[in-house]
Amino acid sequence: MSYRIGFGIDFHQLADARELWIGGVKLPHHKGAVGHSDADVLLHAICDALLGAACLGDIGVHFPNTSKEFENIDSKILLKRTFDLVKTRYKIINIDSTICLEEPKVRPHIAEMQKVISNVIDISVNDISIKATTTEKMGFIGRGEGLAAYATVLLAKI
Ligand SMILES: [Zn+2]
Repeated sequence: MSYRIGFGIDFHQLADARELWIGGVKLPHHKGAVGHSDADVLLHAICDALLGAACLGDIGVHFPNTSKEFENIDSKILLKRTFDLVKTRYKIINIDSTICLEEPKVRPHIAEMQKVISNVIDISVNDISIKATTTEKMGFIGRGEGLAAYATVLLAKI
């Protein structure tokens, strides 16, 4: 069987008067992520990892942040569309990911994120690893100015 690995990374600023969507779940927090879409850092990193594994460019190529169509869009739709691009040729074996965020605590929401993502891309929650870390108060993430996510996926050619 032929396997393909993919890597994705994404960053967003945090600001007042925005909602905080991570992994398709809305987290209660006084700040939210800034972006053209709903700014879901984890779903964007997973999209990029899927596109990378299939050598299909990146999220900006498929869903430009200059397009009205994607303004405030639910990133689950972007993930679904990305999945539709790769699923004709590849099966997703597993995803591993890490969210970097000072606060709020992400861990209590991980099971729900796994469930949401599993529903969109049709793989088991056991094949969707989501981890969380802070940067120990260092840098822009440590100061609560932004957040980041990293994702790796493995695809198998159908
Ligand atoms: Zn993003």
